Amino acid sequence: MSGTNAGVVVVGGGQAGFSVVQALRGAGYEGPVTVFADEPRLPYQRPPLSKKAHTEPEGPGVDLVPESFYRERDIDLRLGEYVAALDTAACAVTTGSGERVPYEHLVLATGARNRPLPVPGAELAGVHALRSLDDALTIGRALTTARDVVVVGGGFIGLELAQVAQAGGARVTVVELADRLLSRAVSPQLEEHLRERHERDGIRILTGTAIEQIEGKDGQVHQVVTGQGPLPADLVVYGIGATPRDELAREAGLAVDDGVIVDEQLRSVSDPRVFAVGDCARHPHPHADGLIRLESVQNAIDQGALVGRRIAGGAAGPYESLPWFWSDQGPVKLQIAGLRASTDEVRVVPGDSDTPERLAVYAFRDERLVAVETLNWPAEHLAARRLLQQNPPVSPADLAGSTLGALARARRRKEVRA
Ligand code: ADP
Repeated sequence: MSGTNAGVVVVGGGQAGFSVVQALRGAGYEGPVTVFADEPRLPYQRPPLSKKAHTEPEGPGVDLVPESFYRERDIDLRLGEYVAALDTAACAVTTGSGERVPYEHLVLATGARNRPLPVPGAELAGVHALRSLDDALTIGRALTTARDVVVVGGGFIGLELAQVAQAGGARVTVVELADRLLSRAVSPQLEEHLRERHERDGIRILTGTAIEQIEGKDGQVHQVVTGQGPLPADLVVYGIGATPRDELAREAGLAVDDGVIVDEQLRSVSDPRVFAVGDCARHPHPHADGLIRLESVQNAIDQGALVGRRIAGGAAGPYESLPWFWSDQGPVKLQIAGLRASTDEVRVVPGDSDTPERLAVYAFRDERLVAVETLNWPAEHLAARRLLQQNPPVSPADLAGSTLGALARARRRKEVRA
């Protein structure tokens, strides 16, 4: 078959895959568009899943868009179908049921899967990880009766779920292997405040602590044995990180290294007809040293949109969107703008007596602001997102005695006068 009318095949029905097809049709692409989504339900938002307890059997209404969106745009959404193999020489994918579907452009938006908990007893009833809506419902229902909850992993998911469980009235212990919470994502300065806040809410936090095994009674979890002794548990939830679903690319011989390796256009470095976006892509970024892989909604949306526009023939430059993240942990709204890696100066600004719950941590590298972490300070986060993309960069001197919000306002006044 000639490639020209084979259209676009998107593998993955998460936020990134959805963003690709939305941008394709939005930019006027008229060829066939097929999305393979292995979960048998409409694409949905994942962030809400860990931020409250979900108990409704019909699901919490987190669909990205209604079914009519796909129908009206002639998007062939193949729910419950997965792609089993990729033949890059023939430009075709093979589905789990053996159907071959040709493509002109292929977009891998396969996301990531949870790292399994590597201890005996992880298979017991009452031990759960969270990724899908089904997982969220299972955990939400278990929380309605759970009294002692052990959360394994003090990352984003773990801390969000710890607050959800705590709010539901359970006794909660977070067990984190590293010597501090969120060590991958935030500065020690922010971590200290965050930990204190969660502990004040009654969440017990054990850092530098390994899980040795999980013990059951009648097949149901009963206690978690840690390096600091046993913890009673009738529910264990774990969030100990994720690995990219990059095996289709690997098996097809494309370059893969903890993610599908792509260039600044998000094209596989091995095959110009294949793109990768979202959690499964390892890509260059102007703010990073070397290639990075980002697990965030912002990254999924922006990468998907860039690839959709590019395939549709619209102008699209290299991928250089400012990374930003958020995590709602009960009463705490944590937001991050920029990438903190290899910073050489950090400044911490606590809230004042009117806003004691606020905190901002500014990270500099070579005298320029590169990342801003905030607690309960959305306005400062938004100012950070604006200023981190502006020239001139913000220097430590610019920030002396000021906030980014005030600095952004001052710069705007100057622009208006100029
Ligand atoms: P997630 O998206 O699952 O929250 P993160 O990378 O944000 O992923 O957080 C995972 C956390 O789990 C990290 O703080 C990491 O140190 C911690 N962790 C990894 N392995 C273990 C383990 N075996 N026991 C406890 N904590 C772990």
